[in-house]
Amino acid sequence: MANKTGITEQKTQAFVDCQNHRMLIGGQWVDALNNKRIEVINPANETVIGNIPCAQPEDVNKAVSFAKDALEQDAWGRMRPSARQNLLLKLADLIERDARIIAELEAVDNGKSADIALAVDVGLGLEFFRYMAGWATKIEGSTLDVSVPMAPPEADFFAYTRREPVGVVAAIIPWNFPFLMACWKIAPALAAGCTVILKPAEQTSLSALYLGQLIEEVGFPAGVVNIITGDGQTTGSALTKHPGINKISFTGSTQVGQMIGRAAMDNMARVTLELGGKSPMIVLKDCDPEKAAQGAAQAIFFNHGQVCSAGSRLYVHRSIFDTVVSRLVELAEAIPMGPGLDSSAQMGPLVSQVQLDRVCQYIESGRKEGARLVTGGERVDRKGYYVKPTIFTSEDDSLVIAREEIFGPVLVVIPFDDVDEAVRRANDSPYGLAASIWSNDLSLVQRLIPKLKAGTVWVNGHNMLDAGVPFGGYKLSGVGRDMGKQSLDSYLETKSVFMAL
Ligand code: ADP
Repeated sequence: MANKTGITEQKTQAFVDCQNHRMLIGGQWVDALNNKRIEVINPANETVIGNIPCAQPEDVNKAVSFAKDALEQDAWGRMRPSARQNLLLKLADLIERDARIIAELEAVDNGKSADIALAVDVGLGLEFFRYMAGWATKIEGSTLDVSVPMAPPEADFFAYTRREPVGVVAAIIPWNFPFLMACWKIAPALAAGCTVILKPAEQTSLSALYLGQLIEEVGFPAGVVNIITGDGQTTGSALTKHPGINKISFTGSTQVGQMIGRAAMDNMARVTLELGGKSPMIVLKDCDPEKAAQGAAQAIFFNHGQVCSAGSRLYVHRSIFDTVVSRLVELAEAIPMGPGLDSSAQMGPLVSQVQLDRVCQYIESGRKEGARLVTGGERVDRKGYYVKPTIFTSEDDSLVIAREEIFGPVLVVIPFDDVDEAVRRANDSPYGLAASIWSNDLSLVQRLIPKLKAGTVWVNGHNMLDAGVPFGGYKLSGVGRDMGKQSLDSYLETKSVFMAL
C-alpha cells in the first residue's frame, strides 16, 4: 500500500525516516568527526528529507587506514577466490531481494522513476555483481619461455606473471545513476581482491549507504568496503590526494576528471576516468523515420537526459529531416512527467536546483544563438526541478548547445546531405564517449564504424549496455573502461616473476 509520499516499501520509509544518516568506515556506522552535514533534498518537491555526513580529511585518513589494514589482513588478503566469488554472489542476491527498496530510494533522492530504476539501475547493478563474481576465480597470469640474451648458454630460467590486486581503491561517482555507478566500481574492485572507499555524489548518497548495509549483512570483513559521504571540494579532494590510495576510479564531469587525473599522478595512483560526452546519432536516409524518432527520443530523454552517453546531437539526412522532427516533437510532448514514485510518470525532475539552472541557461543560450525551438524550452509549472523535454533544430552545429554537454533533456537536431560530412561533424567534438548509426545498409554501417571516434558505437539503438561489454571514452570522455573484463584488469597489477634455475 502506497502512503502519501508514494513509497510502498516499509524498509524504504524506515531508511528515509532515519534522517541523520551515517557513513561506513572500518565496519562502523559513524558521523563525520566534526559533525558537519549536508542536506538531502527530494528534487520532486524541493523538500529536505534528511542529511548525510560531510567527511573531513581526518575521516578520509581513517577510511584509508582501515582499507589498507583490511587489505593486509588474512581475512580478506588471503581469502580464497571462490570465497570472494561467493560473497559477491550473496551481495547480488541481497540486492535482488531489496531491489524495490533501492529503486524507491533512487526516486526520492535523484528524482528518477522507481519503476525504471528497478529495471535499469538496480537490474544492471545486480547483474554486474554476478558477472564480476565469476571473474574472481578466473584471474590468471602467464608462463613465458625466456631467452635472457646476456646469460651463458647453459643457464636456465623460468618466468611467469601473476596478477595482484592494485590495493586501496577510491571510487568517486556522480548523481545520475547513483546505485549503478556504485556497483560498476565496487564489483570489479572486490573481484580483484582490492579494498574500496566509495564516495557517492553529495546530492544522491542514500542508495550507496543502503548498499553499505547489505555489504555488512553479507559479512565482508570490516574495512573492505568503506562508504564515505561528502562534497567534492572537501571529501572528494582529500580522497584523491591521499598518498594511501593506489587507484582512483571516477565517473563525473570532464573538468573534475582532469583535476583528479592530475592529482592521481602525484602519487602514481592508477586511474579510470569515465567523463562527459556529447554523443552524436547519425540517421541515414534509408532509416524508417518512425524508428529514428522513437530511438532518438529514448536516447535523449532517458533519465531526463542526465546520461553521459545521451544522444544529444541528432544528425538526420535532409530527405527525412522534417518527418523525424515532427514525430520527435509529438513523442516529446506525450511524455508523462511527475515524481519518480508516480508509476504513471516516465520523466521526473532534474536532480537539483543547480542542475535546473544550468539546463535553463543552456536553453536560453540556444534561443539567443538562433537555434529554432520546436518544443519545450521551459520549466514545468509545478514544484520540483522539472524541465520540459526540449528540442531545437539548427543548420549550424557550432552553437554552444550543440557542442557542450548539457546533461538535461535538450536535443539539437541537425540536417546533413552527405554521409562523410555527417561523420566529420559527428567527430568534430572534444568528446568521444559514444555514437549511434541508424540504418539497415549494413555494408555502409560497417564502413562508418571505424571512422567514428567514440568508445562505443551503437547501431540501430542507443544507450544499450551489458555487464560484459566495456564502456568508456575516447578523447576528453575519459581514460580506461568500466564493465567487461577490461574493467577487472584495471584493478590488477602485473607482477613478473623471474627465476634462475
Ligand atoms: P557534476 O558536475 O555532474 O555534479 P562532478 O564531476 O562535479 O559532476 O561530480 C562527480 C563526483 O565528483 C561527485 O561525487 C563529486 O562530489 C565529486 N567531486 C567534485 N569535485 C571534486 C574534486 N575536486 N575532487 C574530487 N571529487 C570531486
